[in-house]
Amino acid sequence: MTEIGEKIVKYGGELPQGVRLVAVSKFHPVEALREAYDAGQRIFGESRVQEIEVKHREMPADVQWHFIGHLQTNKVRQLVPYVTLIHSIDSQRLLECVDREARRIGRTVDVLLQLHVAQEATKFGLTPEECFALAESGAIERLANVRVCGVMGMATNTDDEAAIRREFRLIRHTFDELRQGIFAGKPWFTEVSMGMSDDYRIAIEEGSTLVRIGTSIFGARSY
Ligand SMILES: *Cc1c(COP(=O)(O)O)cnc(C)c1O
Repeated sequence: MTEIGEKIVKYGGELPQGVRLVAVSKFHPVEALREAYDAGQRIFGESRVQEIEVKHREMPADVQWHFIGHLQTNKVRQLVPYVTLIHSIDSQRLLECVDREARRIGRTVDVLLQLHVAQEATKFGLTPEECFALAESGAIERLANVRVCGVMGMATNTDDEAAIRREFRLIRHTFDELRQGIFAGKPWFTEVSMGMSDDYRIAIEEGSTLVRIGTSIFGARSY
């Protein structure tokens, strides 16, 4: 088995029940994805529409493509035919755009609301308050071709474990509030996407259901 394959097997043994691995393959060649696939990995995370489009043509049809990067509305049409889950909905406008493009091709697309809780201005997302406001506005119920399945977030890039934990706790808390509120009775609202190579253990302790791991599976990315 290859080094990448061994990593997939290692995570498969390490992640608790109810936590799924998104193998973040952005900037890595299809050969690397194939090694992961051969070791059993089916969920791959990509952050650029162009790249996911090329790779999905070269990989087997049972791969589930998760889009985790910042998504521009002018790229949505290209993405919706083959994406399984969009993690990065950060505005009502984007959500409506995904709904429109999904309706156009007669499908329903699963999405997550991206929360901004980190101390970095560079990160995208809705604050928890904006997220509650969007949910309470009724805008989500009107959209028949998107299904909001949970939330996604990133912690600040820091060594301060307590700070990371606080941010993950806020993401999980926001999810719980939404689930008991507007999403009560929506059995598909189940996903909390948080945790990357450096902080996934903390994320799992704080209630992650999807960890997005790139570097520690595929190695460093060359941009
Ligand atoms: C690139 C990326 C990851 C993977 O990060 P690693 O540190 O390489 O594990 C996870 N989530 C998002 C949103 C990313 O853009």
